[in-house]
Amino acid sequence: MHAATTAAHIGLDWDTRTGAVTVPIYQTATFRHPGLGQSTGYDYSRSGNPTRQALEEGIARLDGGTAGFAYASGMAAIAALLLLFSQGDHLIVTEDLYGGTYRLFEQILPQYGLEFSYVDTSDPAAVRAALRPTTRGLFVESLTNPLLKVADIAALAGLCREQRLLCIVDNTFLTPYLLRPLALGADIAVYSGTKYLAGHNDTVCGLAVVRDPALAERLKFHQNAVGAVLGPQDCWLTIRGLKTLSVRLDRQQENALAIARWLARHPQVERVYYPGLADHPGHELLRRQARGFGAMIAFTVREPALVEQLLLKTRLISFAESLGGVESLITFPEVQTHADLEPATRRRLGIDDRLLRLSVGIEAVDDLLDDLAQAFGDAPTTQHKETQP
Ligand SMILES: *Cc1c(COP(=O)(O)O)cnc(C)c1O
Repeated sequence: MHAATTAAHIGLDWDTRTGAVTVPIYQTATFRHPGLGQSTGYDYSRSGNPTRQALEEGIARLDGGTAGFAYASGMAAIAALLLLFSQGDHLIVTEDLYGGTYRLFEQILPQYGLEFSYVDTSDPAAVRAALRPTTRGLFVESLTNPLLKVADIAALAGLCREQRLLCIVDNTFLTPYLLRPLALGADIAVYSGTKYLAGHNDTVCGLAVVRDPALAERLKFHQNAVGAVLGPQDCWLTIRGLKTLSVRLDRQQENALAIARWLARHPQVERVYYPGLADHPGHELLRRQARGFGAMIAFTVREPALVEQLLLKTRLISFAESLGGVESLITFPEVQTHADLEPATRRRLGIDDRLLRLSVGIEAVDDLLDDLAQAFGDAPTTQHKETQP
């Protein structure tokens, strides 16, 4: 079945008693036992909750895994996965990493004896060169943040199999609708569900999906033992969001391509990073491994002063952190999302005082282009207007 169908039907068959087409919100902490030594299959909501289970089964199906897990946030999901490692283990990690993941890896986990090396994971040779005898895992963003570098997941998963490393893919920017890490050989796909999956900037959530049943067992044990589970209301909101994932992303990608092309032609823009543009270094690879290019764009403006001008003058596009929702957002990675990176690393990566990031929403693209044009101070024009009303 198509991902669009799988997503739209999450929870549909859940309530066999009433036939409700959406899964109920089981707002309960505990469950009555039918008898001594008996269970309905649910005992306590940290261990298992029907609304959460519907979400977990849904994301597992969508991602082609055997089991899914829902956590209180994307960071809670990533932290839970990192507890699979032990003192002395070394992991190789994408260098232009989500700032919060970098903070966890640099400021918390070293206290527990984990070590991390940061490399350009769009270059499999760089990953190989970073291997140590103690390397046990690879943590890679399928599409990086904010520079939208593309990792060859199949090649990296092959390397992980050969070296017996756990291959974890943060697939937040592409979602299982566009790319399925497990089908390409990864062991775990992890998501900030806060972004495209829930999709409406109204819920914080994390999800992980695995293939191997033994690994699923370990994660299930960890999820219950550590306890950062997603509550039933937020599970329901995430299911609600997932049902429209395909239509939202189709529209968002269409908008993103139009905006990336418009920015690439703009005289005050120096460089546009969008993998849907044919001159992007990851374009061909993503064309092969994914169903689309996502809806995140980064761009550098010619003058640093333009950054503040755009952040303050855009009206439809909100100046806010986060991404993936139906509303378009603009952020300034150097100061907002990537402030925890070393200044030297930021400079080397090109995360500087002229780089902006756009999360493109589902609005009419003409309105978004008008908003950008007026924020740049362009002369009024109706050139990009389509003829439709
Ligand atoms: C937002 C984000 C996270 C963290 O997720 P939260 O839901 O905010 O905890 C992790 N990885 C990526 C790529 C993200 O964009």
